[in-house]
Amino acid sequence: RLQVSNLVRRFEGRAVVDDVSLSIAPGDVTCLLGPSGCGKSTTLRMIAGVDMQDAGTIHVDGELICDTVFRVPPERRQIGLMFQDFALFPHLSVGDNVAFGLKGAKADKRRRAAELLERVGLVHYIDEYPHQLSGGEQQRVALARALAPKPRIMLMDEPFSGLDNRLRDGIRDETLSLLKEEGTSVLLVTHEPEEAMRMADEIALMRDGRIVQQGAPYNIFNAPADKAAVAFFSDTN
Ligand code: ATP
Ligand code: MG
Repeated sequence: RLQVSNLVRRFEGRAVVDDVSLSIAPGDVTCLLGPSGCGKSTTLRMIAGVDMQDAGTIHVDGELICDTVFRVPPERRQIGLMFQDFALFPHLSVGDNVAFGLKGAKADKRRRAAELLERVGLVHYIDEYPHQLSGGEQQRVALARALAPKPRIMLMDEPFSGLDNRLRDGIRDETLSLLKEEGTSVLLVTHEPEEAMRMADEIALMRDGRIVQQGAPYNIFNAPADKAAVAFFSDTN
């Protein structure tokens, strides 16, 4: 379980993330929705450990990951990242890309990589190189790579936005079922209401650094808290 409490981040005196609290159960997906610049990526960066908050705490499975004085380094947080720019290492084979973050004996790492590639339907590419794969296939390899170390939490910042519609639905559903099976808590940033409705157990609406509404997708869709939320679900963003 991911527990974020009263997180604050200031840049030049301005609170870009302003008292954000979130709790995500194992296997659940929370979608963070909000206009450009409202503080979504900054929130994810603090959870990942690549940026540090000015106030607030982050716990994973009850364990303190960081407050304003104590900080577990990013590589020890067991938090997976999937961002829009998911670039694979071009000089490493598909299998080595997936095994990259793993520790242990070479044979064990290869076995784990093969297992994950099997699940995204690409095990036959294990000894190929990224440039031999299509964009959608590369993204599935990136997914296998993100899942390989069995992260407790997965942070996703518009991970599907580079894909065309046809590919996106398949990869999105595949990703979701893999994460559910592993019991990973997911925080997903998206600009697309439809994606949120489809993937989320909970939706959190963010504006100007604050969470203005949080709840089940159906409830938010039916009773949006403000005009901006209505606009969000009714059109382009
Ligand atoms: P988008 O949907 O466009 O990705 P976002 O919600 O992810 O937007 P953030 O990237 O979190 O927005 O940025 C929130 C605000 O914080 C923006 O106004 C941005 O300019 C500011 N900001 C982010 N990082 C820094 C930084 N390192 N220094 C100064 N300001 C920053
Ligand atoms: Mg962003």
